[in-house]
Amino acid sequence: MSDLLSRDAQYVWHPYTQMKTAPSPLPIVKGEGALLFTEDGRTLIDGISSWWVNIHGHSHPYIAERIAAQALELEHVIFSGFTHPPAVDLAEKLIDILPGNMARVFYSDNGSTAVEIAVKMAIQYFYNQGMSRPGIIAFEQAFHGETFGAMSLSGELALFDAFEKHLFRVDRIPAPFPGREQESLDALEAILKQGDTCAFIFEPLIMGAGGMLMYEPEALDALIKCCHEHGALAIADEVMTGFGRTGKIFACDYLEETPDLMCLAKGLTGGVLPLSATVCTADIFNAFYSEDKKRTLFHGHSFTANPLGCAAALASMDLTLSETCQNSIARLTARHRAFIEEVKAHPTLIHIRARGTILAMEFHTPDATSYFNNMRDQLYNFFLDQDIILRPLGNVVYVMPPYCLTDEQLEKIYAALREAMEAFKP
Ligand SMILES: *Cc1c(COP(=O)(O)O)cnc(C)c1O
Repeated sequence: MSDLLSRDAQYVWHPYTQMKTAPSPLPIVKGEGALLFTEDGRTLIDGISSWWVNIHGHSHPYIAERIAAQALELEHVIFSGFTHPPAVDLAEKLIDILPGNMARVFYSDNGSTAVEIAVKMAIQYFYNQGMSRPGIIAFEQAFHGETFGAMSLSGELALFDAFEKHLFRVDRIPAPFPGREQESLDALEAILKQGDTCAFIFEPLIMGAGGMLMYEPEALDALIKCCHEHGALAIADEVMTGFGRTGKIFACDYLEETPDLMCLAKGLTGGVLPLSATVCTADIFNAFYSEDKKRTLFHGHSFTANPLGCAAALASMDLTLSETCQNSIARLTARHRAFIEEVKAHPTLIHIRARGTILAMEFHTPDATSYFNNMRDQLYNFFLDQDIILRPLGNVVYVMPPYCLTDEQLEKIYAALREAMEAFKP
């Protein structure tokens, strides 16, 4: 074992890892574009953008330079009572590219906190107006993060069983998958009619950790419209889908309706530094804007609006909006579609689907499709043996690459997927 690995084994506790049975982690010493380089000289293709965050490739020089320049100007300052140029520039630019009704940006530092803040804003929005509407609605297979509020909002993924007694109650509705749109809408409406719902939170168009489950914009439009008819707020958790993932800058850009709150993280800084944002309408902001100090949103983190994070986000946004990047997103989208046409009848596949740069395929399994499906480790190792990082959710294999992935690298991933389909034939 290398020195790094033995020290890691002695002192470090890794996320989502059964430390007893998991193989040793791979020591990564360098990254460039869609590639990661290990300590012992292997070159890996990062097919999952390092947990869905890295949209422009690793160690991008433009983002690195902008962070370095900012670090020499101002590395951090308390954001209560103070402000700074990168935070204001970023807020302005975000409002510019977000749906037209978005008016205010509240910063934090990860996806879970962005979600917590959205829910706190929604609850206090009604509280500040003297209304009690405690109810929150979410999808059955939802995933919204790791903190207690975010765990409460997440569906029955069996990840958080230990904490069940400590989670708050959330009303569940089925997601509007093709063929189940009416069922989903009816369930939503039945709950909204009781009149005590403050917000409905959803992952727009693609539910990530639940298994890359996809549904259509029209179905979500109907749900948001129904919320608004009943005076409830709609919260779009775009933590995974934001910044080009789905083929448009935001998944909500596919919609006619607009949410009242949006949560942004993962791709916000190009996956380089932890930063997130909760964005809301002027109406929500105004419910807090008051002479009365008790109407304040009492929330803030030590690193709220960290200037380095904001500088990284500004640089990442330049790249995302560039013609080169937009072309890459369109290229990945088209190639995923062609790949689906090629392999969709394969007997190993229960289902294959894509939206934008995300491709997901459900492998045939004797057991139920689930996060804990035993095929996961076999599939993971199958791809890693070919120097490709894909991290299946149970028997669901997905590709979510950095947009700069080359055609050659993508072809290597497709070739491995074809081989896996043969190797795992039922
Ligand atoms: C990853 C994710 C989160 C949580 O973000 P973290 O930065 O990991 O806390 C929340 N919502 C969605 C949809 C996510 O994919």
